[in-house]
Amino acid sequence: MTRSGIVVVMFFSIVAVGQTPPGAQGRKIGDFANVPEAPAYTLIRCGTAVDVKTNKVLHNVTIIVEKDRIRNLMEQTSRSVQEGTQVSARAGATVIELPDHTCLPGLIDVHTHALLQGDITAADYDKQLLKWSPEYRTILGTQSARKALEYGFTTIRDLETEGAGYADVDIKKAINAGVIPGPRMQVATRALDVTGAYPLLGYAPNVPVPHGVQVCDGADACRKAVREQIMYGADWIKVYSDRSYYIDPNPPAGISPTPVLNDIPTFTLDELRAMVDEAHRQRHKVASHATAYNGVHNSVEAGIDTIEHGDYISDADLKLMIQKGTYYVPTLYVGEYVAEGRAKAGAPVWLDMTKISADTFGRAVKAGVKIAFGTDAGGFDWNINPAVEFELRVKYGQTPAEALRSATVVASELLGMQKDIGTIEPGKLADIVAVKGDPLTDITAVEHVDFVMKGGVVYKKP
Ligand SMILES: [Zn+2]
Repeated sequence: MTRSGIVVVMFFSIVAVGQTPPGAQGRKIGDFANVPEAPAYTLIRCGTAVDVKTNKVLHNVTIIVEKDRIRNLMEQTSRSVQEGTQVSARAGATVIELPDHTCLPGLIDVHTHALLQGDITAADYDKQLLKWSPEYRTILGTQSARKALEYGFTTIRDLETEGAGYADVDIKKAINAGVIPGPRMQVATRALDVTGAYPLLGYAPNVPVPHGVQVCDGADACRKAVREQIMYGADWIKVYSDRSYYIDPNPPAGISPTPVLNDIPTFTLDELRAMVDEAHRQRHKVASHATAYNGVHNSVEAGIDTIEHGDYISDADLKLMIQKGTYYVPTLYVGEYVAEGRAKAGAPVWLDMTKISADTFGRAVKAGVKIAFGTDAGGFDWNINPAVEFELRVKYGQTPAEALRSATVVASELLGMQKDIGTIEPGKLADIVAVKGDPLTDITAVEHVDFVMKGGVVYKKP
């Protein structure tokens, strides 16, 4: 671009900034210009609502929302009718009638990849890193975020950008600034893995290719990488603890149950400990992609906060997770989604892994490990509603109420946001969704969210 061209662009951008949108006087575009404002008062009348703390179903519920927060939730009594009438009589009160719906707290998915658009095979993945620019991937990522919100996920933890740098920080920023619609986000930025462990792999040594992670080797270098990611906006540190999964013909002595899904551990225990220490020192938490025996065991030993996938977890490690308060974020649907494609591409172990992960999930439920709801959305196409994960969780051992709690109360605790989200209670942010039917008897009802409110603002209505 010529020098005069630059001058012209700058001139127009100043004019554009000068045109203040309605209701945003004095604020600049991109700098919280368009944050949608919640009405002063909103009344939501729900046919039923689920109290996810007690599993109780409440009937004829009125939820009073004051700006972005819940003021009250009441079953139909003379007092609630009175308070509801008082509130709706005030100027500006908005009334939302959902007589045929069940209201729930906004759903939370603690394992997503907004920057990824499905990667059944290595070819799918390589294409996104080699042929799509980070800018194009970010545009698609804004669409993923909007879809997540419309599916009813009012909060997500996005667990790394898969080669798209710090684009998740920017998507979060754009959502918080009201530039695009999307859920509340905690982000992990680039993730960390060792040399030779993470795609893109298989290219000639003289051909430089991008990696889906930031590569670090050695405790000091990995500590530095943690510092760097936090400096650029990471809420979480994501590490990859294992790779190359196989059914171990000679499993370590005394490990139950068998068969043992084993792996090649990536980081050494020293490296993991250094990253956990640095993250915790800076009041950040660490999520570990740990699929099989070594990865899970080393992660729990190193004091990692959340185990992602955990297709195989030994009984001893489940016990250790309970002792240490480690969260387990299984991703059952994505395992089934990718299994056939990866088996056809030469890795039949993925078919065995679906059976092993179902068994692990059942044992974890029985043992009483803290299980949070995550899906790996982005690992499968964002046109598929990540809520399909709920049905598998119920199939493999949770009650519908437990599955719902994992995506609300438990997930909010994992994020450290339990004071603000996770239940419909006075004082919390008004993140509320509604579905037809009763999710406590048929969990697949949550695949059809008709109503979405985030922070008192309605994003979807029946
Ligand atoms: Zn993932």
